[in-house]
Amino acid sequence: MSTRGAGAQARVLMIGASGRMGRAIVRVAAERPDVRICGAVVSAGSADLGRDAGELAGIGRIDVPLRADLAAALAECDVAVDFSSPAAAAANLAACVAAARPLLIGTTGLGTELAADIERAARHIALLVAPNTSLGVTLLLELVKRASQALPDDFDIEIVEAHHRRKKDAPSGTALALGRAAAQGRGQNFGEVAVTDRNGARRSGDIGFAVVRGGDIVGDHTVVFAGSGEQVQLMHRATDRNVFARGALAAAAWLCGRASGQYHMRDIIL
Ligand code: NAD
Repeated sequence: MSTRGAGAQARVLMIGASGRMGRAIVRVAAERPDVRICGAVVSAGSADLGRDAGELAGIGRIDVPLRADLAAALAECDVAVDFSSPAAAAANLAACVAAARPLLIGTTGLGTELAADIERAARHIALLVAPNTSLGVTLLLELVKRASQALPDDFDIEIVEAHHRRKKDAPSGTALALGRAAAQGRGQNFGEVAVTDRNGARRSGDIGFAVVRGGDIVGDHTVVFAGSGEQVQLMHRATDRNVFARGALAAAAWLCGRASGQYHMRDIIL
């Protein structure tokens, strides 16, 4: 169990601390009174092992060295935040269950085979899987579900997303979550209607995905409801990675002391 008292700072373990998101979270944590980075984990082969997480994030020394031993780091923290890699997600989840620590998984591109592990883990720890931790996207998911419920079925749904050239997964986890919200609004089975690599004509009822990769685009998502003679577009544009970092830290602080179960970003910020 966590040893955190009411009103105390949440001691956050950052998994993936040397990455773009990990460094942003370390920087943003330094500005917040409700959290403190107390551990930083990176992959065992990382060239940054032993470096100070604050120095690497550009905010000066915080006396938190990057290490690879997740179990040892978890013992000193109240909550873990994972923005690493899909390949590491299952082991990170198992370590948090073993240490009885709540976990926010921000990593995207998680395989469907992890779904059962996530469900099992949520019986033991407070768990939040968020392919997008921004307030704006959390709201957008709700709006898309509403729009898809309200508009007649002959409004075709297409999702267009754009990210920086180094992003590994496609379509983005956020685009897929938006697709699920749209399918849910219409009572469709997402797996049956999602078209992630269109090659040929559009079928009625499809939810199509289009992907742009390039430059330093932080993250754009547009959901198009295309009817005959009119169109509704719902769009979110992130221009600063800090929006994800702020949401992730708000979620981490919120998860501390929660009962086991699976939570969602909307539980926290809407
Ligand atoms: P990155 O490649 O810059 O960083 C990855 C980090 O993970 C590095 O520190 C690396 O050492 C670490 N890592 C890799 N394997 C590991 C392992 N086995 N154990 C521990 N650490 C390991 O990536 P990034 O741009 O920071 O993105 C990380 C993830 O977060 C991606 O899946 C990305 O899509 C996702 N992301 C989510 C959101 C959100 O709002 N949820 C926002 C942006 C990015």
